[in-house]
Amino acid sequence: LGGVGDWITHHATQDPQRMALVFGDLRLTYSELNQRINRLANALTDLGVGKGDRVALLMLNGNHFIESFFACAKLGAIALPLNYRLSAGEIGFILGDAGATALLYQPALADLFRSIRQNTALRHGIATDGEAEPGDHRYDALMDAAPTTEPSVLLDQNDPLMMMYTSGTTGKPKGALLSHGNPTWLTANMVASDAAISRDSVILTIAPLFHIGGLAVHTLAAFNIGAKVVLHAQFDPSGTLATVQQERITELFLLPAMWQALTQLPHFDDYNLSSLRSLLSGGAPCPIPVIEFLQKRGLAFQEGFGMTETCAGACILSSGDAVRKNGSVGKPLVYVQMRIVDENDQDVPPGEVGELILRGPTMFLSYWGRPDATEEACRNGWFHSGDLARRDQEGFYYIVDRKKDMLISGGENVYPTEVEQVLYKHEQILEVAVIGVPDDKWGEVPMAIVVPRDGQTPTLESLRDFCDGKLGRFKIPKHLALVDELPRNATGKILKRTLRDRFTGA
Ligand code: ATP
Ligand code: MG
Repeated sequence: LGGVGDWITHHATQDPQRMALVFGDLRLTYSELNQRINRLANALTDLGVGKGDRVALLMLNGNHFIESFFACAKLGAIALPLNYRLSAGEIGFILGDAGATALLYQPALADLFRSIRQNTALRHGIATDGEAEPGDHRYDALMDAAPTTEPSVLLDQNDPLMMMYTSGTTGKPKGALLSHGNPTWLTANMVASDAAISRDSVILTIAPLFHIGGLAVHTLAAFNIGAKVVLHAQFDPSGTLATVQQERITELFLLPAMWQALTQLPHFDDYNLSSLRSLLSGGAPCPIPVIEFLQKRGLAFQEGFGMTETCAGACILSSGDAVRKNGSVGKPLVYVQMRIVDENDQDVPPGEVGELILRGPTMFLSYWGRPDATEEACRNGWFHSGDLARRDQEGFYYIVDRKKDMLISGGENVYPTEVEQVLYKHEQILEVAVIGVPDDKWGEVPMAIVVPRDGQTPTLESLRDFCDGKLGRFKIPKHLALVDELPRNATGKILKRTLRDRFTGA
């Protein structure tokens, strides 16, 4: 019994002076953080927010996010972190889909909901700083007027804690409902893993908190065990290294593009990074040169794999294996079971590609309002990830591609990621995406959509020559289109479904 909010209460009671959160000049002990959370929770209660209500959060990383999140947790309200890189239309879809009744927002982001607000169920708006929208409350004023008494809502591990929308790479984003138990078990996973965090850890969180990776992997796990969390509002490469040095950061999780930007800093070696015990990357594959750059400097780099539905961490590749098993996402964390199966849910032998399915206490509860999608994904007690994967003889897992992106050409499976990896080595290609397009003879054939390097005009023939001998004939693109840029979603993942619509006329 108990909820995620109890973590903060526990540390505030047992070790009140312990440092909890650092954000700019603000430094809060667990006792101070707990008091602020309680005040906000009590203010929300006065507004009528209670167990099961959806409370949207629209803000950059900062203390307001953490306080709002835990205030909801203590009330049993469902926190709904919003991606501020979405469009107003997309934010409107999510607010409506979730039926959120309260919104905590940074006024600088108000443009994202102003026009769509009247069409939502929102009853309360709370501005975290600066100028509130007409009729809305101000965070500080609400907080000042509220008592620090502990809310006393009884919660269970299976009660919903938060709703996280998936990235929407393969379709419309789905609201994955996660329980109070999910991040509790994720903590257990993290503590037992190669990226072990502990009570003396100092975490730097820069990846956005509205994403499961930024929120759960280190941040929630750290608050669970009473460690210290330093927050950055947004990514700034040299600021990141300066903070690592200054705050003696021990664990750092970043997205692959952020690691890449760090390793391109000319002054990288001027910083003292000796406090770092673990550098973790996840969300998408990390380029090999980036890993090698970090390892050459003796930094322990790990690749993690996970998704919204598994509360982030599902498996991890230890730093010792990072080069030997390059391209692998490692092995399952201790409380995660993984299998690779065929269309009939039968295990496939090592080396063969199948769908990755997972089970364990970090698996989400359901997709919000989508019993059809939940049923389709959660069959026979296993979550069907929609990712294709294979496992080698030593038990290391490799993500091959998205099931929805695979094409079948003349009866042979083609995994676009494999073709893209070859084409990325072509000197005229800056970016590339491969999709399947209909073909009278073969059913489908691969097509390459290419963003050329400056001033270059690669031809289909040169691509085909380049792939010859590197890929089976049926995998080599039969069509080519040159474009200025590839469509991406708000998390930077390429939208293959948009490309398919555009180039197949479907
Ligand atoms: P949607 O489910 O809405 O289509 P999404 O799957 O991109 O969007 P997320 O839950 O944010 O939404 O991302 C999880 C997916 O990201 C995984 O299923 C996997 O395809 C990919 N992924 C995550 N980490 C890695 C990694 N280390 N290497 C390769 N792929 C990864
Ligand atoms: Mg997904």
